[in-house]
Amino acid sequence: MEIVGLKLPLIKEGDDIAKMIVENFDVENGDVIAICSTVVSKAEGRIARLEDYSPSDRAIEIAEKIGEDARFVQAVLDESDERPGAKYYKWELKGVPIRFEIGPKEAENGEVVVSFRDERKKFSVAFDEINDDTILRWAKELKERLKVRAIENAKSKIVICNSVDEVAETVESRRVALVYVCEDCERELENYGSVLGKMEEKSEWLDVNLEGTCVVCGGKGYLVGVAKTY
Ligand SMILES: [Zn+2]
Repeated sequence: MEIVGLKLPLIKEGDDIAKMIVENFDVENGDVIAICSTVVSKAEGRIARLEDYSPSDRAIEIAEKIGEDARFVQAVLDESDERPGAKYYKWELKGVPIRFEIGPKEAENGEVVVSFRDERKKFSVAFDEINDDTILRWAKELKERLKVRAIENAKSKIVICNSVDEVAETVESRRVALVYVCEDCERELENYGSVLGKMEEKSEWLDVNLEGTCVVCGGKGYLVGVAKTY
């Protein structure tokens, strides 16, 4: 093993360290390149001045324990689990339906960034525009979107079948077959999946009659669901 020091020019913000290394040195397959974190932070422009930090009580407490500058501890805290990204992620995981994000930039502009759980887009709104009415309206719209999506999802999993073969195919593709059958022929459908029983009522979004022609014998039938159960 051989250790070689790589001498690069002073790194400034925006520099592509990987590119600089490859262009200035003969890197071979299997080489391990160690880069100091200080250099990476310089290239990423992530330089902060300690004077800019006013340490929180928590930072002061930690600093006393470990004998560090409390402002430095605050900088570390800001960059670690208290990063905005991590905060957003945490609340996203909790499933908060409407999320407001306010950073220094938003605070300065009198704005707040709004994000809905069900949509990937974000948008800015002025502080004064946020009131009970706005939030209630957003909540109603969100609920409506969720409902529409749930119905679409349910619809995509339901197939109205006109033959036993269709029932077999539908059940096999892990969807629910809706089919007419008579009492005498219901057992026949058990060969393809579990018969979920006679449908006494249906959801308004389901465009189907509750009675029809038995798919097996052609007699008078009623609607049943057939699906794989686990
Ligand atoms: Zn029948």
